[in-house]
Amino acid sequence: MFKLRNQRLITAFISIESQTFCSVASPLSVLDDGQSHEHNTPILSTQVQESSFLDPRFYLSALINCKNLQQIKSLHTQLYDDGLLNDLYILNKLLYMYVRYNGVDDAYNLFDKMPERNPVSWSVMIGGFAKAGNYKKCFETFREYIRSGEQPDVYTLPSVVRVCRDRLDLKMGRLVHQIVHKFGLNMNTFICAAIVDMYAKCGVIDDARKLFNMMTKRDITTWTVMIGAYTACGNASESLVLFDQMQEVGIVPDKISMVTVVNACAKLGAMHKAKHVHDLIRRQYRSLDVILGTAMIDMYAKCGNLESAREIFNGMKEKNVISWSTMIAAYGYHGKGQKALELFPMMSKTGITPNKITFVSLLYACSHSGLVEEGLQVFSQMQEKYFIKPDVKHYTCMVDLLGRAGRLHQAFNLIENMTAEKDEGLWSALLGACKIYNHVEMAQKAAESLLEIQPHNASHYVSLSNIYAKAGKWENVAKIRTQMVSQNLKKTPGWTWVEARNDFHRFCSGDHTHSESKAIYEKLDSLIQKLELCGYVPDTNFVLHDVNEELKLGSLYAHSEKLAIAYGIISTPEKSPIRMTKNLRVCGDCHTFIKFVSTVEKREIIVRDAKRFHHVSEGVCSCGDYW
Ligand code: ZN
Ligand code: ZN
Repeated sequence: MFKLRNQRLITAFISIESQTFCSVASPLSVLDDGQSHEHNTPILSTQVQESSFLDPRFYLSALINCKNLQQIKSLHTQLYDDGLLNDLYILNKLLYMYVRYNGVDDAYNLFDKMPERNPVSWSVMIGGFAKAGNYKKCFETFREYIRSGEQPDVYTLPSVVRVCRDRLDLKMGRLVHQIVHKFGLNMNTFICAAIVDMYAKCGVIDDARKLFNMMTKRDITTWTVMIGAYTACGNASESLVLFDQMQEVGIVPDKISMVTVVNACAKLGAMHKAKHVHDLIRRQYRSLDVILGTAMIDMYAKCGNLESAREIFNGMKEKNVISWSTMIAAYGYHGKGQKALELFPMMSKTGITPNKITFVSLLYACSHSGLVEEGLQVFSQMQEKYFIKPDVKHYTCMVDLLGRAGRLHQAFNLIENMTAEKDEGLWSALLGACKIYNHVEMAQKAAESLLEIQPHNASHYVSLSNIYAKAGKWENVAKIRTQMVSQNLKKTPGWTWVEARNDFHRFCSGDHTHSESKAIYEKLDSLIQKLELCGYVPDTNFVLHDVNEELKLGSLYAHSEKLAIAYGIISTPEKSPIRMTKNLRVCGDCHTFIKFVSTVEKREIIVRDAKRFHHVSEGVCSCGDYW
């Protein structure tokens, strides 16, 4: 009976460690009897003295009521004086209380002197080191535990696994997995869930899935871990498949799994799925709390539906700084800078103080809407009124803002004078602006800085090569090509996904793998003929430069965006909007092409690329050709 209670306690304790595994009751609900004590009140005052003095139960209740390290220590002394330091149950509780109030060294002193230890003592000590961030001691104690011949259990193993996860220590993680095997615990749901989580966070998603598939029983936590893991590693569509499977086996999604799947929809920009998940949420919850609500704002915004995002935002009873910043960022993605700026004073009125993220969202919104003066104002307000020191993300927005407006030298000066560490995003922003304004010299500087930071990123070489090509410096183009070949660097392939018939269809450049490929190319041919009559001229500047004109045209025609649009047209009802996602930035020629298609086919086309959203209708894009 005593052991059982203690195990509940330890389970609760372990749950402090991780939010993912918060299915166990809060430690306070197990520990606290509801009485409150002033800090530093002598805990053994009248209560114990009036009662039978050596009854351990009174010490236990006194221990449980301790509120700080000092109280625990004085109680520890009293226990020693009263000769009660050989009661394992009391010792374990003392150990636990030390750990709980951040006295891991005191805990270890006690642990070291304990005449006898049981699995609970070991668990508390191992978990205690993990909680204190002393991973070396945590692993050492675990090793000592295994050597002592004790059988590791459902309390010790998960906390060690979680340390491996947090430290991304895959080697140690695999070792613990072997121990789990050795002790025949490989079918334990609790332990396996922790290992799946560890593998996923360490980036070995296939190992996570293998173990997940082998589990005979999976609880909602395990499903959620697996669903989230796929989104984190860039395969959000698998997350959605798993979410459906989870419901098919009869598991009703809880809030955490809902947030996870909402994030998957956001990553994917999957509008039909987003609506489906929203329906589910509506059925289950009467109102949205701040976490789920904020995730949904992001989801709708990234699915290209700004109105729904705003509706969710307006309907939320409680909003925090992240909810506001997410809504501001949403307007930014969609090129509605003015709307984003309007939200800012509204937010201040509610008494919420903006943080670094809010300002990134605001500056981003300004840069993607060409609001130069407003952006400059926000940037100085952030420093002077809110005393926020700009980091590289803020500078990147500023460089983007100034660069796009053609104020290249001002942007360059900003970079030269900044103290924050420069990263590839910053230089890419400058490079992008240099490309728009054909500033070869500065572009070269930006590209070279990029190559210093990321010497193996093929796209930087391609950028530099394109800059030289545009300037007619063919020798330099050839040099870069040779460098790329010798380092075996390949460009990230471009992909475009189009939403049609309740599914996603993926195309790469020159794709012939789709089952309706023939019809797609026929549609593309007729489309291009129609477009050319309306004045569309393919812009071959956007193709690498040393191929001949005809070949260039060939590859340009078959860009993944164009194939996706052609398929979108033949597979969705007339005049309905077409939604697409591109993994890279949409190229200039495809951008022009999309604008023409929107006029000729009378369609609204929503394209999400790596940088932002383009809402194209009647030949005009929301980005103002500024992206
Ligand atoms: Zn293109
Ligand atoms: Zn656009």
